[in-house]
Amino acid sequence: MKGIYIHIPFCVRKCKYCDFVSYPDKTALADEYVSALKKEAKMYRGEKADTIFIGGGTPSLLTPKQIETVCRMCFDTFDIPDDYEFTMEINPGTVDDDKINAMLSGGVNRVSVGVQSFCDEELRRIGRIHDAKTAYNTIWQLKENGFSNINIDIMTALPSQNITALSDTLNTAVKLPITHISAYSLIMEEGTALYDEYSNGAVTLPNDDDERDMYAFTKDFLNKNGFARYEISNFARDGFECRHNIKYWTFEEYVGLGAAAHSYMDGKRFYNTSILEEYIMGAEKTVTLLTRDDEISEYIITGLRMDRGIDAARFAARFNERIEDIYGDKLKKFISLGLIKSCGGFYSLTDRGIDVSNSVLCEFV
Ligand code: SF4
Repeated sequence: MKGIYIHIPFCVRKCKYCDFVSYPDKTALADEYVSALKKEAKMYRGEKADTIFIGGGTPSLLTPKQIETVCRMCFDTFDIPDDYEFTMEINPGTVDDDKINAMLSGGVNRVSVGVQSFCDEELRRIGRIHDAKTAYNTIWQLKENGFSNINIDIMTALPSQNITALSDTLNTAVKLPITHISAYSLIMEEGTALYDEYSNGAVTLPNDDDERDMYAFTKDFLNKNGFARYEISNFARDGFECRHNIKYWTFEEYVGLGAAAHSYMDGKRFYNTSILEEYIMGAEKTVTLLTRDDEISEYIITGLRMDRGIDAARFAARFNERIEDIYGDKLKKFISLGLIKSCGGFYSLTDRGIDVSNSVLCEFV
């Protein structure tokens, strides 16, 4: 079954590190945008899908009525089984009880809250719209209104962050009623406000060793507190792994709706314009055909991000060729270096391999 991703590109203002497709001050276009989503969704009528993810941007900026419309569009368009997973992203301080009720009655059963840190100073440095208390209250508000499957996003390697500050954030996080934590390192993207501040020397970042230490600390701390790592940057309580994201990492098909959204179906990748107004006007999609080599290397790169790794039998069934016949030399080399391990028919990164994952994964491109 496919996954459905719906992009909602509205934000209150741009966070300093953000290079996602998101527009501050354009929520006035949200009604037209939702109509364009409905129009686009018609192309996929009857497709079977068991995961939905509304991401952004800040989907929680939609009004209760717009949320209801988008949810109804999903169930009216796609063939969705009873055991679906339906996630919606939320930014702290942007939901009220009416919006939460619209989400619940619309069928949303998982929420993902962009917390990033429980340290006010860190949040200020990266330009978030909320403080730690607001994030804390939003999570409890979601829980008290009926959500039992809650992810929070945390960022590591933030400007001036150290292990003590990270430890405070994680300590607060694990005491909350949440089931999943995504913990990504800050990536400095050219063209962002934070990149300029960093280039001018106005902010300092943890060095590579500090960043590695923060990663190791995060993994150990979360494991000890009941959140097992199942992907390089994702940790879950037992049974609460994100089914939608696992589709990306296991190279399954997905449909992307909305500005800048990508789809992958029938060996083709297609994506929509990033320009909001062009999307609303119904701009054509751009299509790229993936070669077999492209598919194989993406399959390896995404599969190795997962703790369970790549299932050699599944690989052979999909590509009609054994992984060892294509990448035998590379696998042998990384196994002898202790960066990849082979266990029970699966190939996966070791902890040392994760530390240098970028260099390992590059070799499979
Ligand atoms: S809330 Fe998310 S999408 Fe919006 S500006 Fe901040 S990081 Fe970007």
